[in-house]
Amino acid sequence: MNAASTADEFERNLSDYVYERSEEARAVRVGEKETSDQAAVVARYEALFTRSTLERLTQDVEGAAGSERERLERLKEACLGGLLSIEIAEASDALENAILNTEITFEDGSMPLRAGQARLAVLESYAGRDELGSIVTDGSAQHNERRLSLLEAAEQLEADLTGQPDPIVRNAELKQVDLFEVRDAVGRASSAVDNAYGARREDHLDALLGPEREDEPSSAHVSYIRRLSPLAGTYTKERAVEVCLDSLRAVGFDLAAEHRIKLDLEDRPQKNPRACVIASRPPDVVHLITRAQGGLADYEAFLHEAGHALHYAGCDPDLPYAFRRLARDHALTEIYAFLVESITREPEWHVRHFGLDDETAQRHADMAFLIETLLFRRYAAKLDSELRFWGDVGNARSHGPVYAELVSAASGFRYPASGYLADMDSGFYTADYLRAWVRTAQVRAALREQVGGNWWCDEATGEFLRELFREGTGPSNEDIADRLGFAALDTGPLESELGATYA
Ligand SMILES: [Zn+2]
Repeated sequence: MNAASTADEFERNLSDYVYERSEEARAVRVGEKETSDQAAVVARYEALFTRSTLERLTQDVEGAAGSERERLERLKEACLGGLLSIEIAEASDALENAILNTEITFEDGSMPLRAGQARLAVLESYAGRDELGSIVTDGSAQHNERRLSLLEAAEQLEADLTGQPDPIVRNAELKQVDLFEVRDAVGRASSAVDNAYGARREDHLDALLGPEREDEPSSAHVSYIRRLSPLAGTYTKERAVEVCLDSLRAVGFDLAAEHRIKLDLEDRPQKNPRACVIASRPPDVVHLITRAQGGLADYEAFLHEAGHALHYAGCDPDLPYAFRRLARDHALTEIYAFLVESITREPEWHVRHFGLDDETAQRHADMAFLIETLLFRRYAAKLDSELRFWGDVGNARSHGPVYAELVSAASGFRYPASGYLADMDSGFYTADYLRAWVRTAQVRAALREQVGGNWWCDEATGEFLRELFREGTGPSNEDIADRLGFAALDTGPLESELGATYA
């Protein structure tokens, strides 16, 4: 591979590079490959990412305007990302492989750390989850030194390449949002739903965790309640695919007939239980990967990822690559994922697919709202924590207790201080999720108005989404607010959804 001589050539080669890296990540993710070998891919493309290419793209950006400027800006960011990867791919592979190879011991048997994490979601015993939770926490924490040095190395390099030493300013410029304003707005929304969250916890936590639960249970129980495990008899893993495909058909998407989306639903021991989409080359090659364990979470995860997959597979193939695959951040695509996922919080959906009576359906949907509120509040606290971490990164090692305090207080679950690095999303992804939370509630409010209360099973919703999908990754998250006539940080719709209580 030679150095690209023009922005267009760079864009073409970049598309091949992203494709190869995505396919490598997919193979590891689904358990087809035991070791991650991103470094080999990066090495093949070393000539694509050079400082002189970065400089040229930076100059190109300055001479351009409108959407061409935006396209070049994204190519410049991708070049920066590639340069970073060249420097850190080996260390990053080493960390990933060390985590993959970590064995823990539980109940006289040994298992991979990742299997232990997956087991937490399905382990029936409260005491057992407490015990396994702390074993998993310790198993993960032994990699903290490595995580930290990788973070520091990446940060230093990024500061050097961009000339912007402040990671918060740099990320805010890239995302074109004020991260402190986002934090304040979602912090206020989180506080505004304090009472509703407290009441829902009281209503459902005994049923979800059993009467022996503590007032503030350990975070070891979160993946278990996220799955709504006691209801797993209703939300079986066997029905997940069929019900989700049906739910998508109701809004006008036939996922099974959509040849661009490759479904991987198999159960393999090393397959990461977290569902994901890998958009190797949108719109033609988009992988949707899940591993059902049973429980409502399977349905939520499948529909969430279907939202991403339909977005990437639904873009206009004639768009430049920069608007099919690249974005300044993930805050746009998360809107679509959140929206499709939220179908599972409609009480009627539970009646229709699971034959529940109205009252039971309402109670189950309300439990799903409990989980949703827990996650939103946890993320609002995570953003606060991450802003403090990066604002005082010189004292990174002492950040654990701050993280634990903030996230535990917001969620009502005891998070371990040692999780502060494993629980941190790179590039302030946390803020992308939060912007999507705010935006999706606005979109639902608009759909209720335009389509009606049955927006979640009306093909008009599919039409609305298809129009947006066609634009690919072009618009920003905030552009969607503009089109709907909402202010970017108007958390009113979100607060009224999460703050409403059913009686
Ligand atoms: Zn997502």
